[in-house]
Amino acid sequence: MLDIKNYIGGEFRPSTDGATLEDFNPATAECIANIPRSKASDVDLAVVAAHSAQAEWGARTLAERADWLVRIADALEAKHEHIAQTESMDTGKPISLARRVDASRSVRNFRFFAEFGREQSDVTFEMDDAMNYVHRSPVGTVGLITPWNLPLYLLTWKVAPALLMGNTVVAKPSEITPLTANILAETLDEIGLPAGVFNVVHGLGPEVGQAILEAPGIKGISFTGGTSTGRIVAKTAAPMFKKLSLELGGKNATIILKDADLEAAVNGAVRAAFTNSGQVCLCGSRILVDASIAEEFTQLFVAEVERINIGNPADADTVMGSVISPEHLEKVESYIKLGIDEGGIVLTGGTREMTGYHGPDGVGAFLRPTVFSGLDYTSRCATEEIFGPMVTLHTFDNEDEAIHMANHSEYGLAGSIWTTDLERGRKVAARMETGIVWVNTWLHRDLRTPFGGVKNSGVGREGGTWSMEFFSEMTNVCIKHPNPTS
Ligand code: NDP
Repeated sequence: MLDIKNYIGGEFRPSTDGATLEDFNPATAECIANIPRSKASDVDLAVVAAHSAQAEWGARTLAERADWLVRIADALEAKHEHIAQTESMDTGKPISLARRVDASRSVRNFRFFAEFGREQSDVTFEMDDAMNYVHRSPVGTVGLITPWNLPLYLLTWKVAPALLMGNTVVAKPSEITPLTANILAETLDEIGLPAGVFNVVHGLGPEVGQAILEAPGIKGISFTGGTSTGRIVAKTAAPMFKKLSLELGGKNATIILKDADLEAAVNGAVRAAFTNSGQVCLCGSRILVDASIAEEFTQLFVAEVERINIGNPADADTVMGSVISPEHLEKVESYIKLGIDEGGIVLTGGTREMTGYHGPDGVGAFLRPTVFSGLDYTSRCATEEIFGPMVTLHTFDNEDEAIHMANHSEYGLAGSIWTTDLERGRKVAARMETGIVWVNTWLHRDLRTPFGGVKNSGVGREGGTWSMEFFSEMTNVCIKHPNPTS
């Protein structure tokens, strides 16, 4: 049983009123940690600590801060297995995924921003009689609020550029998955990052998260989470004119065109649907298939889904673990019930039963990957974000219909298109109302590219220069050339 503390001003300390929360392993239902149930008073302490570190950290050169990012990456890399094991235990995701994605990519985030930051050249604009250059300053103390699905990965995706650009940080991880944020705090402490540059305040969204949004000393908010929480974030922070980045929910379409390489499309669609138990914001939870190949695709798809190895997340060959919590399991199950009520047909899954594993006492939050057909593309199951191991299959008769169905969503985060005609792929991609489109692949990430959504999937972009811009204020300096005649 771990006893987690806040990390404020270089010290690990309990919440000011001593209140705590329990943290559970969803695969076993065991309580694995106590964490502080912090309040606004803890956020206030973190803001004071961050402010006291701001001037010195912000005055360092970008190259010096990039060196720090490399040091952080090295230190996290040394803990790769510890991070993977902890993330797997805290989220119920398979250890193989936690190693490959969570642990590895968290290190990569720091290395990427260190290298990318160093490569940037000055932005200048010459005039006949003057020159302009863009001077970047830190925003100041920024609040980073992150969800439970990719806890350390999504936190480091924000922490790395925030530190690079000279900001100090007050972070709030999801209270459901606080453990790897604590490992990050321990790591930064061990390597001697100056006190107050990075602070973590654990606790509940409506308490700690809300206090971060409201704190006048926090000048920017980078939030990743659900769309309804995003509305609260925007409503609170926008009137205070805080810089705001919102990465929100999605209901992403996987479009299988008639000329797709079927084997690749099936594998891609399965991965897109069920990676991390369908709990990735980019997951393709609606599969739109050309009617002429729908029968063959469906058969192959269902067979492939039934081959997914569900089991103990700690086993190396497990491909799918539990969902994040018993409450979330019930939410996904309520959509399965709704899908049946809406007239859908469960082609596979739909139940907690499975061969093998349910956690030691049969209490783990496991659900078989579930595939529905027969639901209208306008039905609630096909339009609301379920964020679990459940997909709906729909057919279309032509490209226009496929695009109409794909865009029939309040969300606009991502989508994938499967076709052997790349020109056609480009044309369809251009008509998708999403921030990201993949053709013949899914979740293929280049960290330099803009990441984010349109419609109710978010505001702003992260990645490469977009992150650097978000975490800095820009001043244009215009210098008049000396008059040659004077
Ligand atoms: P939530 O919106 O419930 O929570 C996200 C974070 O916000 C958590 O740390 C949460 O704390 C906190 N929070 C909750 N209420 C408030 C509040 N009033 N003020 C400030 N912070 C608050 O999302 P989930 O954690 O359930 O994550 C799943 C969602 O995240 C899905 O919708 C998914 O699509 C989205 N997501 C989007 C991504 C993207 O890049 N677009 C990437 C990954 C996920 P607490 O946990 O204590 O409630």
